[in-house]
Amino acid sequence: MTAFNPARFREQFPALADAGVYLDSAATALKPLAVIEASRQFYSLNTGSVHRSQHGAAQWLTAQYEAARDAAAQWLNAASAQEIVWTKGATEALNIVAQCWARPRLTADDEIIVSEAEHHANLVPWLMVAQQTGARVVKLPLGGDRLPDISQLPALLNARTRLLALGQMSNVTGGCPDIARAIQLAHANGTLVVIDGAQGAVHCAPDVRLLDIDFYAFSGHKLYGPTGIGALYGKAELLADMSAWLGGGKMIEQVSFGGFTLQPPPYRFEAGTPNIAGVIGLSAALAWLAEQDMTQAENYSRGLATLAQDALAKRPGFRSFRCQNASLLAFDFADIHHGDMATLLAKSGIALRAGQHCAQPLLAALGVSGTLRASFAPYNTREDVERLIEAVDQALELLGD
Ligand code: PMP
Repeated sequence: MTAFNPARFREQFPALADAGVYLDSAATALKPLAVIEASRQFYSLNTGSVHRSQHGAAQWLTAQYEAARDAAAQWLNAASAQEIVWTKGATEALNIVAQCWARPRLTADDEIIVSEAEHHANLVPWLMVAQQTGARVVKLPLGGDRLPDISQLPALLNARTRLLALGQMSNVTGGCPDIARAIQLAHANGTLVVIDGAQGAVHCAPDVRLLDIDFYAFSGHKLYGPTGIGALYGKAELLADMSAWLGGGKMIEQVSFGGFTLQPPPYRFEAGTPNIAGVIGLSAALAWLAEQDMTQAENYSRGLATLAQDALAKRPGFRSFRCQNASLLAFDFADIHHGDMATLLAKSGIALRAGQHCAQPLLAALGVSGTLRASFAPYNTREDVERLIEAVDQALELLGD
């Protein structure tokens, strides 16, 4: 493993060569050379699909594709590679659990607990299942520390609760609830748990066996990998008992006009030609991540967020929505619209996100219609923080009274 060196880390990201300040890694992380090179090689050298053709290149590629599944399984400490389903990303992974596990099982007598801090990707699929089955979605409210209040779980769990949907890390506050405790409480009640790892995976890949996670969803593009690829981890016995969602090539064992039989998992969930380039790129990202000292790197990016928060806190009207020690800083200024500020910051070359961050219920609980969000990664610098502050000062001058 390479000791963390901010300059060396940064050098690996060609997208940073232009003069802008990239503070939008929670939306999508930039790609290191290792991932870009793996993708380039894939498109330059590969001539075939996977799990289909007999020729040598296709066979070789199939082996690479399955080796990537092994790598993802090892990264999460899954018991088997067959527990990893390739998806478009966390959104698709969560929808598979909703449509293939929950929809056929739930009835109007059932309940799904969803935390108030969730991204819409971990809320709307459950609301859809509720519409389809009559089941009820029950809110696990936010606590005073802006984290889902796990202490309220025992009162919400009951004989009707079939599923708990919880994010590993909020994309707004950066807060990480105690998922281990939540899983223990849910399991003691016979309730399954689905964890949205879209934000959390890059900061801390969970040990799915140690935590006894039932389903875990993540996206490659937030892990320094390509867009359009991610995965669903599901316990083998759960996946084996689930029906397919998309029908098409390679997900059936046999088919006739009389019907079809399904392949075993994970293939039954991977109809059609998969995102092979995405899988190869994600595998390169996981290999690259394993070589970085991400503990040090994470401390560094959290430190930058703290630096920014401390400096901005000296400006009048500043409000932070950041959970302690997060690498994300959601903030606003009283009486200044976040959208106006973001437009001016963009003009100053600061790339960040403003708005509702696909988390409307969370923002409602925080009492705001939107925020700015600066998300820091280990490729950011103190100079980036200084440029953010300068740009904010200029914007405040223009927008203030
Ligand atoms: N959950 C959280 C917490 C997220 O931040 C995101 C992405 N913004 C998602 C789910 C959905 O991920 P994707 O869009 O990559 O499917």
